[in-house]
Amino acid sequence: TSVEDWARSDAYHNSFLHEPDATLAWVLKNSTEKGLPEIAVSAAQGKLLHLLVRSVGAKRVLEVGTLGGYSTIWLARALPEGGSVTTLEINEHHAAVAKENLAHAEVSDKVEIILGPALDSLVKLSPEPAPFDFVFIDADKKGNFDYFTEAKRLVRSGGIIIVDNVVRFGRVAEPDYTDVNVEGVRRLLAGLKGDKDVDATTIGTVGDKGYDGFLYAVRR
Ligand code: SAM
Repeated sequence: TSVEDWARSDAYHNSFLHEPDATLAWVLKNSTEKGLPEIAVSAAQGKLLHLLVRSVGAKRVLEVGTLGGYSTIWLARALPEGGSVTTLEINEHHAAVAKENLAHAEVSDKVEIILGPALDSLVKLSPEPAPFDFVFIDADKKGNFDYFTEAKRLVRSGGIIIVDNVVRFGRVAEPDYTDVNVEGVRRLLAGLKGDKDVDATTIGTVGDKGYDGFLYAVRR
């Protein structure tokens, strides 16, 4: 099975389960036109994040890695009245395009973009007075373990931490394969072995972004 087959399968399912969304289509087009890489989550993954936020009634959401704000919009649209997304981005141009996209999607009032290296921003955030309910980690993979450690500090008991791209076409599990992304995921997994603060599992995903997976963790 190839990426084309998985993309066709995603499109097939989406055609039944997703409403056509001109806003998100505009956002993806605008991001591409402004030179952003096409590495946002897929529509099916974005909607899954959206449904999870709704399922747990999350009010305070944290995202690491904004890009053009595509996943941010899915998250923001899931929030109840008074909810907010804090999203962290290192790249000034990405953050500027995200600002345009968030405005176009009419969610700017619910989203704060913090510009800078994610770890610098994370250490300045506080779980007081209200901890986060839901964290989505999707930035540079080398930082995964540090971001996860900070996320544990910032999330409430019972809160959720999701890390994207932890399967990487199965390469994470191929002993001979090595690159900085794969190493970043392996370091996270090694750190999670025996970690008593969370219960976690990996859910593999296939679709128009290929063969990958989310790590899903619940804070104890
Ligand atoms: N979550 C986005 C979505 O699905 O629409 C995609 C995020 S993209 C995969 C990763 C983003 O993380 C890029 O915009 C990149 O500039 C940003 N990034 C990379 N290193 C970072 C760092 N150290 N701190 C904050 N952001 C970083």
